[in-house]
Amino acid sequence: MTKTAPISADVDVLISGGGIAGLTAAAAFGAAGFSVQCVDPTAPITERNVAGSDLRTTAFLQPAQALLDQAGLWERLAPHAAPLQVMRIVDAGGDVPEPRIVKDFNSSDISDLPFGWNLPNWLLRREMLARLAELSNVDLRLGCATTTLFTRTNEARVGLSDGSQTHARLVIAADGRNSAMRQAAGIKVHTTRYGQKALALAVTHPIPHVNVSTEIHRSGGPFTLVPLPDYDGMPSSALVWMERSARAQELFEMDETAFEAEMTDRSCALFGPLKLASRRTIWPIISQSAERLYGERLALVAEAAHVVPPIGAQGLNMSLGDMRILLDLAVATPNQLGNATMLEAYHRRRFAEVKLRVQGIDMLNRASMVEARGLRDARAMGLNALYSLGPVRKTLMQMGLGAR
Ligand SMILES: Cc1cc2nc3c(=O)[nH]c(=O)nc-3n(C[C@H](O)[C@H](O)[C@H](O)COP(=O)(O)OP(=O)(O)OC[C@H]3O[C@@H](n4cnc5c(N)ncnc54)[C@H](O)[C@@H]3O)c2cc1C
Repeated sequence: MTKTAPISADVDVLISGGGIAGLTAAAAFGAAGFSVQCVDPTAPITERNVAGSDLRTTAFLQPAQALLDQAGLWERLAPHAAPLQVMRIVDAGGDVPEPRIVKDFNSSDISDLPFGWNLPNWLLRREMLARLAELSNVDLRLGCATTTLFTRTNEARVGLSDGSQTHARLVIAADGRNSAMRQAAGIKVHTTRYGQKALALAVTHPIPHVNVSTEIHRSGGPFTLVPLPDYDGMPSSALVWMERSARAQELFEMDETAFEAEMTDRSCALFGPLKLASRRTIWPIISQSAERLYGERLALVAEAAHVVPPIGAQGLNMSLGDMRILLDLAVATPNQLGNATMLEAYHRRRFAEVKLRVQGIDMLNRASMVEARGLRDARAMGLNALYSLGPVRKTLMQMGLGAR
């Protein structure tokens, strides 16, 4: 019996990786009229309560909305989004877990809109796949990985695990922190390991969140509750709880009742007793940045380019910043798609900004991890001083949004 040869393709843009970043890039470039192939070895899980579903949530900050809109995604996402009107920072680094300093940032101080909108990752995947199904110029190939990259000045040839080959003018590496395309191009990364892990899960609580996102600092890392729409008739939030790895693993394995008591204690009971509303997932925390954001015919975006600890909802929002610049360049001069001029411009416009954010979040994470009593007091004093000054506060809020 003869085997059918796998189909090869010629496209404007090949996207390696169909995570949230890759799917967004596929919708954005597809909606702009480019022919796109997006490749991922795993089929996205689009239901909440099945094994392996991604229970993290993404808080899309204000600047993300325009890109999602342009990609035809926002109208699908808006009905499911929980607005984030207030960001509350709490220092609870004293002898007992109770708030010592509470600082509120209200979005109305800088804008008519909320800071952002929170959405579960599994639901994002569902809506993104539905959007891609409407775009006839986007070919989504699931169950297939990129394996090799061979470039010439005028095109890239990417080998896929089904034996086919795709010729593309631009390859976008959105294939995660261990990016196969980045490695194939020989681009090095700098990695920092913190010996820390994050638990990500959903909770319900009797006291409503009133659209306030709450980040509580004590030791081991931040404990952040981000508003979600009600679940089973109860107020609900997404929790990201960062701790030293051994402690995080212990919490991950703990029986449910004991875990719920630990969570409530760590939350200073600000929302009453916390109840698990999903299974627990656990994520290693690193900080990583690529030494450059491009290779010949190749652009690195999202975690292929930079990984940060989940603080201040920066991770995917930085990734959308990458895509905004790439798309602007592609649309402004389509005849230069993927050439050296375009990719050098991309690197110039993103690299310094990415570096600054990776360093900033690294600093915040280290400050949040401190165990020593004196350092915890210094953190509380610093927090108090910083956030009490009106103009500094405003600048910080705008920077948090990536608006300056
Ligand atoms: C606990 C936690 C909470 C977070 N909360 C937020 C938040 O509120 N806001 C925010 O902005 N960010 C947040 N982040 C960060 C955010 O989740 C990540 O930035 C984002 O999920 C990474 O997306 P990605 O698409 O780059 O990578 P991934 O999700 O890792 O996707 C990479 C994809 O590439 C595929 N792939 C791998 N190898 C290949 C190959 N050879 N060929 C083709 N495909 C391949 C994989 O199968 C995968 O689907 C959080 C992170 C954590 C850990």
